[in-house]
Amino acid sequence: MASTQSYEVTVVGGGLGGLTAALALRQRGLRVTVLEQAPALGEIGAGIQTAPNASRVLFGLGLREQLEAIRTEPLDQVRRRWKDGSVIGLTPLGEFCKRTYNAPYWHYHRADLHRVIMEACVDPEGPGPVVELRTGSLVVDLDTADPARPVAITADGQRYAGDALIGADGIKSAVRDLMGAPDTLVFSGEMAFRALIPGDLIAADPATRWLVDRYQSTIWYGPDRHLVHYMIRGGEFLNVVGCVPCTDEVAEKWTVASTTQALVDAFPGWDDRVAAMLSKAKEDVACFALYHRRRDPVWMDGRVALLGDSCHAMLPYQAQGASQAMEDAAVLAEELGSVTNDGVESALRRYVNRRAKHAGMVQNASLRNVDFYHLHDGPEQEARDELLRRGFDGESDVSYDWLWSGTPLDDPDLGAFAYQFAR
Ligand SMILES: Cc1cc2nc3c(=O)[nH]c(=O)nc-3n(C[C@H](O)[C@H](O)[C@H](O)COP(=O)(O)OP(=O)(O)OC[C@H]3O[C@@H](n4cnc5c(N)ncnc54)[C@H](O)[C@@H]3O)c2cc1C
Repeated sequence: MASTQSYEVTVVGGGLGGLTAALALRQRGLRVTVLEQAPALGEIGAGIQTAPNASRVLFGLGLREQLEAIRTEPLDQVRRRWKDGSVIGLTPLGEFCKRTYNAPYWHYHRADLHRVIMEACVDPEGPGPVVELRTGSLVVDLDTADPARPVAITADGQRYAGDALIGADGIKSAVRDLMGAPDTLVFSGEMAFRALIPGDLIAADPATRWLVDRYQSTIWYGPDRHLVHYMIRGGEFLNVVGCVPCTDEVAEKWTVASTTQALVDAFPGWDDRVAAMLSKAKEDVACFALYHRRRDPVWMDGRVALLGDSCHAMLPYQAQGASQAMEDAAVLAEELGSVTNDGVESALRRYVNRRAKHAGMVQNASLRNVDFYHLHDGPEQEARDELLRRGFDGESDVSYDWLWSGTPLDDPDLGAFAYQFAR
């Protein structure tokens, strides 16, 4: 019988989900090869929020110090009304999250977060075997003729056999298709404008200065659209995401370069502060079609399993897609790290059982938020705003307490962060 130490895991996809899984598996003593199609590993120029459920996983992987160096901490989450910017809901973040969930709610530049995880994967001083990262490796086929040694085959004909194969290759997952999982892709009819606005321009204008005076995570609710913004890199950029009805061109091409004017025009009649903020965007405005996957518990076939967007791509209406992938990574490593080679398939089954329902609920709740965020002015919108004003725990379907507590993990060390934050 092979020992746990001899395991080899092939991870297809070097995004935030795949790399977090690689690091978690490495730390359990598994030998991991990551196959990434892109010529270089990296992330897009945009921000990302990690709620306590994700921060807890990253801290559990020993990344706290590195993350403290790159994070920006919002003090609260604010909901505003489109027309006049009036505050309709306020949730404390900052110290509240650390005290309540033993883990912070932080904002990052995606490239910084990705780099920190990648460096930990290849750090020769880190625990476990160094992760092998192979870029320029587009996986185009699987060979499962030997079910105990699934093989990923790349476009250049290279074969990578392992004891388990994890498809962390994103929303358009090839591994998913190759393992014959159902086609669950759904177009939402919406697209997201994304832009990073220089923080110095925001700070210099009295109309937008309020955005740097107190760091917050802000959501503006409006009819058929909403706007999210928060500071990253300690105020270097204001990250904005504006979700609006999709154009035919973006629906077809998925990603299309756009302009500052188009971004401003996408929020007509909104509070003046919105145009003051958005008009400071530079050339890097782009639109992304918002697709998601229908909830689907089929995440594995033999020793091939899925992780992250490949199995539970969700709308970004709770900022949880990557965070759920990080939860996948922690649970996968607990399961694969605690069995011998003979038990790989059962370990993958336990991983799916522990994660599929949880992630599915987040998928559904994110979908429900389309209606919740985009109500036209009227009785339903008034009832929603009243709910938000009275104080609330979560948005439409799941409570923040449930969401931010995350999937229960076995690792006792994760409780050890309590009160270390008090400064
Ligand atoms: C507007 C917007 C805002 C968001 N904000 C947040 C947020 O604040 N917080 C949050 O938690 N989530 C957020 N998300 C969701 C988050 O971005 C995704 O859920 C997350 O990045 C998915 O990670 P992943 O590793 O599963 O997939 P990906 O990041 O898509 O990575 C997949 C990787 O696989 C590679 N790949 C693909 N096919 C192959 C192949 N055949 N062979 C080899 N490599 C391959 C790709 O090149 C890529 O590197 C947001 C999403 C959007 C659209």
